Amino acid sequence: MGEVLSVEEIFAKNVFTLGKMKQRLPKSVFKEVKAVMDRGGELSLETADVVAKAMKDWAVENGATHYTHWFQPLTGITAEKHDSFVAHPDEEGKTIMEFSGKELIKGEPDASSFPSGGLRATFEARGYTAWDMTSPAFLKEAATGVILCIPTAFCSYTGEALDKKTPLLRSMEAVSEQALRIVRLFQNDEATKVVASVGPEQEYFLVDKEKYLKRPDLIFAGRTLFGAPAPKGQEMEDHYFGVIRERIGAYMKDLNEELWKLGVTAKTQHNEVAPAQHELAPIYETANIAVDHNQLVMETMKRVAVHHDMRCLLHEKPFAGVNGSGKHNNWSLGTDNGVNLLDPGDTPNENIQFLLVLACIMKAVDTHADLLRQSASDVGNDHRLGANEAPPAIISMFLGEQLEDVVKQLVETGIAETCKEGGVLETGVSTLPNLAKDATDRNRTSPFAFTGNKFEFRMVGSADSIASPNTILNAIVAEAFCEAADVLEKAEDFDLAVHDLIKEYMTKHQRIIFNGNGYSEEWVKEAERRGLPNIRSMVEAVETLTTDKAVKLFEKFHIFTKAELESREEVLYETYAKTINIEALTMIDMASRQIVPAVVKYTKSLADTVIAVKEAGADASVQAKLLGQVSSGLAQAKTALEKLQKTVEEAGAMQEGKAQAFFYKDVVRMAMEDLRRPVDELEMLVEKEAWPYPTYADLMFEV
Ligand code: ADP
Ligand code: MG
Repeated sequence: MGEVLSVEEIFAKNVFTLGKMKQRLPKSVFKEVKAVMDRGGELSLETADVVAKAMKDWAVENGATHYTHWFQPLTGITAEKHDSFVAHPDEEGKTIMEFSGKELIKGEPDASSFPSGGLRATFEARGYTAWDMTSPAFLKEAATGVILCIPTAFCSYTGEALDKKTPLLRSMEAVSEQALRIVRLFQNDEATKVVASVGPEQEYFLVDKEKYLKRPDLIFAGRTLFGAPAPKGQEMEDHYFGVIRERIGAYMKDLNEELWKLGVTAKTQHNEVAPAQHELAPIYETANIAVDHNQLVMETMKRVAVHHDMRCLLHEKPFAGVNGSGKHNNWSLGTDNGVNLLDPGDTPNENIQFLLVLACIMKAVDTHADLLRQSASDVGNDHRLGANEAPPAIISMFLGEQLEDVVKQLVETGIAETCKEGGVLETGVSTLPNLAKDATDRNRTSPFAFTGNKFEFRMVGSADSIASPNTILNAIVAEAFCEAADVLEKAEDFDLAVHDLIKEYMTKHQRIIFNGNGYSEEWVKEAERRGLPNIRSMVEAVETLTTDKAVKLFEKFHIFTKAELESREEVLYETYAKTINIEALTMIDMASRQIVPAVVKYTKSLADTVIAVKEAGADASVQAKLLGQVSSGLAQAKTALEKLQKTVEEAGAMQEGKAQAFFYKDVVRMAMEDLRRPVDELEMLVEKEAWPYPTYADLMFEV
C-alpha cells in the first residue's frame, strides 16, 4: 500500500495546470502563453520550445515515456498515436528525452482512415493536429505506461475541420463576440469575453465481465440485441438513489480518484433508475474543457471497470424494457467579469438584460429546433428519444412558472409588472425547518429546461460526444444575439427599442415554450398544431445540417463551411449504416450459431422425453405441447433469420449514402425486430441451462 493522499493532493496531479506552467516557465514566457490562451494568436517558435521543454520535463519526472496529440475525430471518441521522447542516440549510444516546440504545436498523424465524408481523398491525405492551448495537457496512466496527452484540433491540409473540437472552438468565439455586443449595450465595459460553460451529467451501466464476455451483442454492439425481460425491472424504484453496493462503491471510489488526478471535478454519484445503472456529474467548466473532460470521463469509466472485472456500458439503450442512458448537458453563458447572462436575479421582470437574453434564446431554439434535435442524435439515441423515458423528439423549452408568467405579461401587455416569488415551503413538522422554496418547480420531461441560472439540454445520448450539442447551442444563440445587437446598437431610444424587441421575439417565438408533460401523447399533437418539428430518428435529422438556414448560420459565424457540413452529413449516414449493419450481423451470428442450435438440441431432448414418457405408459401431453410451442417458435425464428440475412445482403449491395441509411432504418431494423420477437419468446420456453446466454436478470441484478 502506498501512502494515502488527500483529494487536495490528488486533484489535477496529472494535469499541466496553469499553476505548474507559472512555476516552471520564465515569467515572460508564461505571460506570452497566458495572453495567447486568453485572447488567441500564435506562440513564437522560441516560446513554444521553452514550453515544450518544461512540459516534457514535468511529464518525464512523472514517469512519462511518450507524448500524443490527443484529438476527437468524427467517430465521436478520441484518438491518439504515441511517440516516445527518445532521441537519436549519440556516438556513445546514449539517448536523451527530447520534445520540441514544433512537436508540441503541430502534428501530422496521417490518420487517413478516420471518416472525413469526402473531405480527404486518401491520395491527398494530409491531416494536421494543432495544439489547443485552452485545454490543459495531461498525463494518462495506462498499461502502456504514462503518456503525455496534448489536446489538439484535427484539420485537413486545406484547413477543413475533420474533428469535433474545431467547430466547437469556433462556436465559442462566435458566441463570445456576439454576447459581448449584448452586454456592452447594458454598459458592461469591463468584460472582455463571454464564456460558454457546460456541466454534463453522465449515465452508465455496469455489468459483470464474465457475463459480458458470453454475449456477442454486448461485445460488438454495446447493447443486448436479444433478451427477454427479467421478472423484475425498475418498477419498484428501489435502485434509484438506493444504497450503493460494495462492488459498485469500490468502482466509484477508484473512478473518482482517477478523474480527480486528471483534473475532472467528479462531484455527484448515485444509482439511476434502471437496475445496474448509475450516474456521475462533474462541476461545470468552460465548454471546451467540459467536452474534453467528458471524453475522459467516458474513457475512464470503461478503463476502471476492467480493473474491477466489470464492463461499463455507455450505450443509450443496453437493455430493452428498462431506462436507457442519457447525458444532461447543462449550459450557460458568463462574462469574464463574473456575470452569468442566464441569472434572472430575484426579480426577473426588472432584469432587462436577462429578458433580452431569454428572448434571444427563445428565438434561437425556435428557429433552429431542428438543428438542436440533430445535435442530440446518434444511433443509440434513436431508442430513447420519443420513447417513454426520455424527452420526446420534439424540441420545446420549459421556463417554469415564474418566467412563464413574466413572458406572458410581456407578450400580452408589453410590461411585466409583477413577478411570482418563491415563498416558504412548510414542512409541517415542528422539529424540521421550513425551507425557502425556489420560484420554479422542475419539469423532468422537457428536453430543454431552464433550471435557475442555466439551461439543461436533456436529449443528448450517453455515448455521444457533447461537442455537437454545445457547438449548436453556441451557434444559434450567437446568431440571435447578433441580430438583436444589429437592431439595438442603432436604436435612438435604447429603452424603447429593447422593450419592443423583447416583446417582438417573445411573441413570435412563444410557441416553443411548453411547461406540461412532454411525455404525453397530447403534447405530440399539440406540438404538431404549433408547427414544431418532430424529427423521429437520427437519419431523418441529418439533412437539417444543410438547409439554407443552417448553411447561412454556420457560414456567417465561420463555424462550418458548406463543404464541412456536407462531409458531416455523409459521415452520419455512413455511421448509421455501419452501426446497424454490425448489429444485424451480430444477430445473424448469434441466432445461426448459438440460438438455433441450442433450441434444436432442446427440441431433441423434449422429443426424447415425449417418447420415453409415452413408452413408460404415462401422459406426455404437457411435454408434447411444449415441444410443439418450441418447434413453432423455432420455425418462426428461422424464417425471420433468413429474412434478415436477405435484407442485410440487399443493404450491403446499395451505394453508401442517404438511401442506404434509410434502408437500414426502415427495412433492416424491422427485420431485426422480427427476429428478436420469436427468440425472446423462445428464451422464456427453453430450460435456462440450455440457453446460450446470461439473461437480463443475470446481467442486471447480479453485478
Ligand atoms: P440540477 O440539480 O439542477 O440538475 P446540479 O447542481 O446537480 O443541478 O448540477 C447539474 C450540473 O449542472 C452539474 O454538472 C453542475 O456543475 C452544472 N451547473 C450548475 N450551474 C451551472 C451553470 N451556471 N452553467 C452550466 N452548468 C452548471
Ligand atoms: Mg440535472
